Amino acid sequence: HLKGLADSEERTIFDKIVSKEIPATVIYEDSLALAFRDINPQAKTHFLVIPKIRAGLTRLSKSTEDHKALLGHLMYTAALVAKQEKLDAGYRVVVNDGVEGCQSVYHLHLHVLGGQQLSWPPG
Ligand code: 5GP
Repeated sequence: HLKGLADSEERTIFDKIVSKEIPATVIYEDSLALAFRDINPQAKTHFLVIPKIRAGLTRLSKSTEDHKALLGHLMYTAALVAKQEKLDAGYRVVVNDGVEGCQSVYHLHLHVLGGQQLSWPPG
């Protein structure tokens, strides 16, 4: 994926992961959310949490009042799966939004990074 592609309503690679058209290492699934390992990990542990149905959320900045429960569920799921992954010493949750945020896949996703000492601020 090239970084900085414009927002689009096209299906993304994440829809194909949800539908199992392409494989992924899924580590958590419920009726609303899916968590799977990032193919290009930026930390010892790096997984993504996505809504199974994008529901207009190509990016976080597209969220409306109607998305509040789903957004809460995704954040809670990040914490639940972090616990499952034994990230007890801490971790980071990141949402990249848009071109300046370096978003590359336009299907909302939470990055969860951990399993090692992280640095701050990011580059
Ligand atoms: P973004 O750059 O949009 O914040 O994050 C997209 C993330 O999706 C990147 O970290 C990238 O490595 C990951 N990614 C892109 N394509 C795939 C894929 O086919 N499978 C998996 N597991 N991760 C992917």
